[in-house]
Amino acid sequence: MKITVDRDRCEGLGMCEAMAHQFFEVDDDEVMHVLDESPGEEHRATVHAAVEACPVMALTLTG
Ligand code: SF4
Repeated sequence: MKITVDRDRCEGLGMCEAMAHQFFEVDDDEVMHVLDESPGEEHRATVHAAVEACPVMALTLTG
């Protein structure tokens, strides 16, 4: 599976980081970085919860 970020939507709010800090990190400038764009299948539930938590729907999970 692959995580995609719509940079036009992301506002650096950090809900994704709160849900799955091993995959998402918001830096001091409120820019979110995906730490691992292709998580292993065993992390699907965690990543899916983070994607669902984004209030501006900036995250997409494919595959
Ligand atoms: S929750 Fe959404 S808006 Fe907030 S940092 Fe993550 S992707 Fe960006």
